[in-house]
Amino acid sequence: MSDSYRSGGNTNGKGTGRVPANILRRRMRVVVTGGAGFVGSHLVDKLIARGDDVIVIDNFFTGRRENVMHHFGNPRFELIRHDVVEPILLEVDQIYHLACPASPVHYKYNPVKTIKTNVMGTLNMLGLAKRINAKFLLTSTSEVYGDPLEHPQKETYWGHVNPIGVRSCYDEGKRTAETLSMDYHRGAGVEVRIARIFNTYGPRMCLDDGRVVSNFVAQAIRKQPLTVYGDGKQTRSFQYVSDLVDGLVALMEGEHIGPFNLGNPGEFTMLELAQVVKETIDSSATIEFKPNTADDPHKRKPDISKAMELLNWEPKVSLREGLPRMVTDFRNRILNEDEGKGK
Ligand code: NAD
Ligand code: UDP
Ligand code: UDP
Repeated sequence: MSDSYRSGGNTNGKGTGRVPANILRRRMRVVVTGGAGFVGSHLVDKLIARGDDVIVIDNFFTGRRENVMHHFGNPRFELIRHDVVEPILLEVDQIYHLACPASPVHYKYNPVKTIKTNVMGTLNMLGLAKRINAKFLLTSTSEVYGDPLEHPQKETYWGHVNPIGVRSCYDEGKRTAETLSMDYHRGAGVEVRIARIFNTYGPRMCLDDGRVVSNFVAQAIRKQPLTVYGDGKQTRSFQYVSDLVDGLVALMEGEHIGPFNLGNPGEFTMLELAQVVKETIDSSATIEFKPNTADDPHKRKPDISKAMELLNWEPKVSLREGLPRMVTDFRNRILNEDEGKGK
């Protein structure tokens, strides 16, 4: 275990020489698997900002160096190209295990690889946590509830999941990852934490990952019609990424295993989302209806009372506040793409 300490107090050398005890915190060595991805890179920013040593493990399937490039050269930051399906030896205090494609388009691309990542990848990270006595946090998903028969979803709900469908590599994979986490906890005493994350959006999402928020935002900027799948009456609850990152850190630092729903309870149909995107980016944007994908959950909304009570956490950023924050990032990246193509 690291024995170094940092002070959150006066660093200009002109202080009183005394550091109040409540701002002393041991500097952690933290691994973030999937740290070059959308959520992972925002988590890395927060951990680096609070003074931790951060190692990112990523195979760059959906992650990008650009998401963490601003930490290159920082001695507290390390990036390792590694696939979590293979074992790895490291010495750290905490493991945030995010590695796994999250967008349906990406996780269906190579379903066998997705389930290997969820099962073998999680097994390896739990084996690592057991050997070095590290705390382990799994980023599970609201998809463990499947096409839910209970609404809103509480953590006590066991779900309604098709085990042989096209989404199973992801939702059954994450359910097995939860099982593994609990078995390493019960069987080997590993200190685990389980977050069930609901749809999250923000800067650094892949431009063309097929998720609804990134699709609509990119389409509105490119002056293309917004593609609504099915009748657009299915619902989702959208959480801004900084709220999620705060929740993940609160969960890791807290005393409760979970699982905890981390999401924003504000529920929108896809047609309502399209309307908010129009209001935010381009009121003249049009809508094009397309067939829906197989096994698409009809509705999804988290009950977050458990996280509010035990983690003292709740989301702060509404959809109408959060969307404009990702538009600048998307505009810049779309502009760069267009310039690259000589447009
Ligand atoms: P993302 O695709 O942007 O990030 C995933 C990262 O994991 C990428 O950097 C990718 O390259 C890496 N990765 C994938 N397979 C790997 C492997 N085998 N070895 C090493 N690295 C690998 O997705 P995200 O939105 O940032 O999601 C992060 C985590 O949160 C995932 O575990 C996902 O299941 C979970 N989650 C996200 C959402 C959401 O709405 N974003 C919702 C529920 C759960
Ligand atoms: N593992 C790893 N790094 C470690 C310790 C273990 O990647 O520091 C992997 C290990 O290769 C194995 C998995 O984690 O595939 C589970 O390890 P565990 O010790 O729990 O089980 P065992 O090796 O006995 O099957
Ligand atoms: N969706 C849509 N248009 C798109 C992409 C997705 O209407 O361009 C719908 C999709 O059918 C689903 C919802 O939006 O009902 C959320 O899809 P997403 O892939 O973002 O996340 P998930 O299905 O994992 O919740």
